Amino acid sequence: MLNFVIFGAPGSGKGTYSAKLKEIFQLEHISTGDVLRGEIRKGSDLGIVAKSYIDKGQLIPDELMIGILANVYDNLPAGSNGVILDGFPRTITQAEALAKMFDERNEKLTAVIDLEVSQDILLARLLRRAKLEGRADDNEETIKKRFEVYHTQTKPLADYFKEMGVLKSFYYTDELGPEGMVREIAEYIKSL
Ligand code: ATP
Ligand code: MG
Repeated sequence: MLNFVIFGAPGSGKGTYSAKLKEIFQLEHISTGDVLRGEIRKGSDLGIVAKSYIDKGQLIPDELMIGILANVYDNLPAGSNGVILDGFPRTITQAEALAKMFDERNEKLTAVIDLEVSQDILLARLLRRAKLEGRADDNEETIKKRFEVYHTQTKPLADYFKEMGVLKSFYYTDELGPEGMVREIAEYIKSL
């Protein structure tokens, strides 16, 4: 099975590109943010806990998140081509748990698709999305907090993946645009 992680700052386009790659390569898309927002909508116990962290721009505790991810992964439709993990792992602890999870299932991480986007573009996108989608955590204060959390807890994972030899970085430019990014990522996946 192909096991991709799509990695990048808030607003880097993880969800958007995942949707496109899902179509091109018939992959399953697991977005932990979407899973949590679904639980919030249902009003489940998990949703209530998740909301208290998400609204503050903080990460859900690792133990909880790791359990959720394994559960979703194990319930993928049988015979899947592969999967794109979007929003997981976000900490070194989560990355180590993921490695263990793959080991136990005789799977391995195929590659990490790293999205590099400048801070100015990220901020502009999130503020625009705030108006379009009305996500509760897309307000200026929470966005600031999410960037801070990203830089301290999540960004160090790039080095971790680099050392593992699985990091593949893609640099966004306005010239390339989202279509160009998808094209480059798709070419890379085909070359694997
Ligand atoms: P974008 O959707 O633009 O990529 P994002 O990465 O900030 O932005 P989501 O991935 O949807 O947004 O995550 C929203 C929130 O859900 C996070 O701020 C965090 O509180 C929680 N969350 C999602 N995934 C995890 C995770 N792996 N570990 C801990 N918390 C998580
Ligand atoms: Mg997302």
